[in-house]
Amino acid sequence: MNKLFGLIIAAVIIFVTVKIFFRSSAFKGKIGEHKVYRALKRCRIEGDKIINDITLVNPENGMTSQIDHILVSTRGIFAIETKNYSGRIIGSDKDETWTQILAGGNVVNEFRSPVKQNNTHVYVLKKVLESDAFISGIVVFAQGNIGQISGSCVCSPKGLKNKISCAKATELSPEQRDEYFNLLSKLKEHSVSKRRHIKNIRRQQKRLRRGVCPRCNGKLVLRTGRYGEFYGCSNFPKCHFTKDL
Ligand SMILES: [Zn+2]
Repeated sequence: MNKLFGLIIAAVIIFVTVKIFFRSSAFKGKIGEHKVYRALKRCRIEGDKIINDITLVNPENGMTSQIDHILVSTRGIFAIETKNYSGRIIGSDKDETWTQILAGGNVVNEFRSPVKQNNTHVYVLKKVLESDAFISGIVVFAQGNIGQISGSCVCSPKGLKNKISCAKATELSPEQRDEYFNLLSKLKEHSVSKRRHIKNIRRQQKRLRRGVCPRCNGKLVLRTGRYGEFYGCSNFPKCHFTKDL
């Protein structure tokens, strides 16, 4: 009887754990990444190479950037950020915070602009590759209604092919493409652990609160732009990092 009771308890624990896992944002994130990876594979031309889930260290300040996919092509280098949010998404290139609307407007969530997040990835990628090439950043929403996003580099998996073909990225020779790919593959082998990356994110948030640019260690200074006041990096135009007041 006791044995049976133990078995039932174990089955319940396994069931609950599996249910929690499938509902977790980490699992949903992985599903989204896989969907975008499949779309990205369909966009390849001969010789194109893809690197998935790589964490790079910014040589300027030791901070880490996790990039979902990098396409290395003779058409250029593309850093691709995947988002797997459902519902209606509202945001633009200049907004610091984007909005997710669910359940007919009853649930509203805010999140950091994936375009700005990806701009940091592109910055770090350029530093790591020591490249003057223009690297293109693309944000792909694996699901959700993105009709209300006014972002020049945002698309659905279906729109990815078109975004890649009309993005402005510096073209590479086949030799340069292979060189960059080999370098990134080597870096991926020594990729930073998830734990260190999370620790770094916390450090980055602390620096931001102290008025230090998380991209290049510059000072954040108050500036006035077309859309009002904001914090910008003192190393502008070398660094384009901005933060809302
Ligand atoms: Zn900066």
